[in-house]
Amino acid sequence: MVTRNPSIYSSLVEQWHIARTLRNLQIHFDPQKCTGVYQCYEVCPVDCWTPDYENHKVIFHDQERCIACGACVLQCPEDAIELR
Ligand code: SF4
Ligand code: SF4
Repeated sequence: MVTRNPSIYSSLVEQWHIARTLRNLQIHFDPQKCTGVYQCYEVCPVDCWTPDYENHKVIFHDQERCIACGACVLQCPEDAIELR
């Protein structure tokens, strides 16, 4: 397991937030395409996704927290997530 250095991590997240704001990027999630593989949930470094195990979907719950790293977009096998 990777151990996060809290001060370095929070500083990085702050910088990523600035970068996301400057690029004006937002997550667009299509729940109809989602098959609940949860890879977005596993890769998101700032916990934007919550698994909905009952419905085999995820819930995207925090546009403001997203740092626009693109990891979830790359990992989703169903093309259910766009960053634009
Ligand atoms: S783009 Fe990155 S930070 Fe934003 S939801 Fe996807 S994995 Fe999380
Ligand atoms: S990776 Fe894609 S298909 Fe899998 S849970 Fe996330 S949005 Fe749904």
